[in-house]
Amino acid sequence: MELTVIGSNSEGNSYVLQNAGEALLLEAGKPFKQVLAALDGNVRKVVGCLVTHEHGDHAGRINEVLSYAIPVFASEGTIEGAQKYIKGGYKPTPIKGSAGNYGQFRLGGFVVIPFQTKHDAAEPLGFYIWHEETGGVLFATDTFYLPCKFKGLSNILIECNYDPDILARRVADGTIPEVLQERVRRSHLSYYTCLDALKANDLSAVNNIVLIHISDGNGDGVAFRNGIAKATGKTVHIAKPGLKIKFNKTPF
Ligand SMILES: [Zn+2]
Repeated sequence: MELTVIGSNSEGNSYVLQNAGEALLLEAGKPFKQVLAALDGNVRKVVGCLVTHEHGDHAGRINEVLSYAIPVFASEGTIEGAQKYIKGGYKPTPIKGSAGNYGQFRLGGFVVIPFQTKHDAAEPLGFYIWHEETGGVLFATDTFYLPCKFKGLSNILIECNYDPDILARRVADGTIPEVLQERVRRSHLSYYTCLDALKANDLSAVNNIVLIHISDGNGDGVAFRNGIAKATGKTVHIAKPGLKIKFNKTPF
């Protein structure tokens, strides 16, 4: 299995997990022609698209995905919040449930277990994804805290949005207003909270940690990668457009 990062910041988020026979899309925030390019045009192998929440950088291109008759899955709250992006005849499929109890479903060879995240959105979700090639994959973005622990992790995509010191410095020098600092703190994962979330889990079988949704202004991707690699002893990547990584249960 291979992960392709198409976009991973506030301008648009989109990822593809694929092998020769099937593909799963994560988020609908980038123009679909870029997704098509990552798929080499093979749209028929896409088993579905998971959307975490209704903000435009994650859900703004939902209609383009639906227009290819790709099933899109999101919480009922997310679908309600994303109505302005949904125009055609195809509709997203609601993931029904409540806090801590969303059940699991299967898309091709992918088993998807949604979980609640903490973000300034109606009903945001993260996803634990299992496939026999990838093993357990954690996908968590746009959350100021990660409430769950996960078993059998082999690969991780986790938000590492900001450094609280950089954020405080930018407020002090007038670059950003204090209200924005408060919003970031209540909606995104800081470097330290990301590190705590990783350390709370068994990382012994993890092959890749991909740091996603790093803030351009409030984050320092290289420092984040170095710090988390040192603290975990794992291979850590900075998500950038065009990044491709082997995403397997085995380390190669
Ligand atoms: Zn958001």
